[in-house]
This record gives sequence, C-alpha cells and structure tokens, in this order.
Amino acid sequence: MVGSAIIRKLNSIGNCNIITAERKDLDLTNQLSVNTFFKENPIDVVILAAAKVGGIHANNTKPADFIYENLMIEANIIFASYQNRINDVLFLGSSCIYPKNTQQPMSEESLLSGFLEPTNEPYAIAKIAGIKLCESFNRQFSTNYRSLMPTNLYGPNDNFHPMDSHVVPALIGKFHNATKKGEKEVIVWGSGRPRREFLHVDDLASASIFFLSLSDLEIANHTTPMNSHVNVGTGKDYSISELAEIIANSTGFEGNIIFDTEMPDGTLRKLLDVTKMKDLGWSYSIPLDEGIDETYSWFKQNISKLRGFN
Ligand code: GDP
Repeated sequence: MVGSAIIRKLNSIGNCNIITAERKDLDLTNQLSVNTFFKENPIDVVILAAAKVGGIHANNTKPADFIYENLMIEANIIFASYQNRINDVLFLGSSCIYPKNTQQPMSEESLLSGFLEPTNEPYAIAKIAGIKLCESFNRQFSTNYRSLMPTNLYGPNDNFHPMDSHVVPALIGKFHNATKKGEKEVIVWGSGRPRREFLHVDDLASASIFFLSLSDLEIANHTTPMNSHVNVGTGKDYSISELAEIIANSTGFEGNIIFDTEMPDGTLRKLLDVTKMKDLGWSYSIPLDEGIDETYSWFKQNISKLRGFN
C-alpha cells in the first residue's frame, strides 16, 4: 500500500528513475539477495516502505513473524545502503513505537520512556530498532538516514482481509459484505472506545517526498542525533465507534453495530503530536470521510483481486 502510493506520487512529479523491489522478485529478509540487488542497481535514494504489517489480531497471534521479518528487512536494507555508499535513506516506522501510557498527543521525545502496548510490542521493537539503525549509521558514518513515524494508515492497495488487517480496511470489507447480503448486524472488535488517528496513504506519500527534500540543516534544527525520527499524522483522532459510523455511512449499511468485547481493544489512545512536521512545513490534506469514500470506491473496483473476497 505505502510503496505503491509513493510510486504514484513520484510519477506525478516525474524526473526520477524509480527502481522497485516487489516481494515476489526479492526476499528482503535474505541478506545475499538484498546485497546482489543493491550491487546490480544504480540507486541514489532508498525509501524503505516494505514491512511485515498487520492489525491487532495478526500482531497478537504471530509475534515472531512481526519481529523477525521486520528486523531482517531493516538490517539488510540499511546495511546494504551503507555498503553501496548510498547517502540518503528514508525509513518508515509506526506510531506504535511509543509507550502505552505516555502523554497524548505523543511527541517524538516520549520514545523509550515506558512500557509498550503488549499486543504489538514485537513489531514496535523492530521499528524502534530501525530508527536506531539509521541514527547509529548517521552518528558513526555521517550518512543521511531519516525516519518518519506515520500514524494508522489506510487507502488503496490495503489488506482488507477480515482477520489479519487493520481496522479501516477490515470494517470496509465487513460493512460491504453485510450491505450486499442484507445482513442486520456487523461485529466490530473491542469496546468501540479506543481512539485512533488515521492518515490516507497518499498523504504519507506526499509527506515522505517532502521530508526527503528538506536540507540537512532544516532536519537538524528539529531533531537530535539520538532522537531523529519525526511523526506524520493528522493530529485528530476518532473512537472506533465513530469510525464504524463513518464506514457504515460510506458503504450504505443501515443495520446494527455490535461490539465484541471478547476481542482486544489494544492501547486506548494513539494520537501523534505532529508539531514538528507542521513546523517543518507539511500538513495532511485528505479528511477521513473523503478518504474512506475514495478507498471504498477503490475496494469495489478491485474486489475480485482481493484476498478474502475472491
Ligand atoms: P492497532 O491500532 O495496532 O490497535 O491496530 P488495529 O487497526 O488492528 O485496531 C485498532 C482498534 O480497532 C482496536 O481497538 C481493535 O480492537 C478495533 N477493531 C474493531 N473492529 C476491528 C476489526 O475488524 N479489525 C481490526 N483489525 N481491528 C478492529
């Protein structure tokens, strides 16, 4: 989802040769394959959008996959970038790097100040390691490896599977099915009370290109060598029950929404402090209801190709 949004953005700007490495062609967890790919391609800038991602249930039930695959991907790519004298890398992380009980909205400085949310701790540890890899190469070798921490993302090319996806695509799929089949209720996991911040992936793509275009001095004025990551979000959050209403509206569902409190809530609030990105000159542009409508249109056009729906 993120990679394809960044490619769309770069194509709209033009003027650069985009080299991609899709999962079917290159196993990023394999160091030898990654090294060979880097040797064979003339790369100037690396955007590391690839990751093993999933929603609360997938993270909770497959913790080994989430920590192992993400650590391997990050270590292989960042080290291959260094070995091939690539000076510019953008690493994309996640807002789950911050402690469960930290002050909201969560500032970059709250990293490593407390315990993580248990449902996605292994994934978060891998993403924190990615930031620290970038910082450590910068400190030791004067590279220019930057890190952005996006909030919960959604948009075209998301994973809409009912069990292992994130809440926005999962609910789009569930409400769509219920509407089509004339069902009277949709089950939403948890109490409906947790609050989340959602960013359309096209906004993340624009933030990524913007962040890469900043000078070293601009970045240095807003970060420190050991706290170098910057948050990307909207600064606005919604309860899961509010989100469910928005998605019900978008999909035309008119039945009841039932909350399944046997399923986990996860952290109660996860709102990013986006002051740094604003001060640097970037803000989001796609409001949640518009983004959901656009994503639902994409979903309907592509449903025959989607895992769990074909
Ligand atoms: P999180 O932000 O890491 O917790 O990831 P998710 O996007 O998976 O979940 C966000 C919140 O939405 C949690 O409180 C979930 O329990 C809730 N939620 C409600 N229904 C669903 C669903 O169908 N799928 C997912 N993934 N989460 C849901």
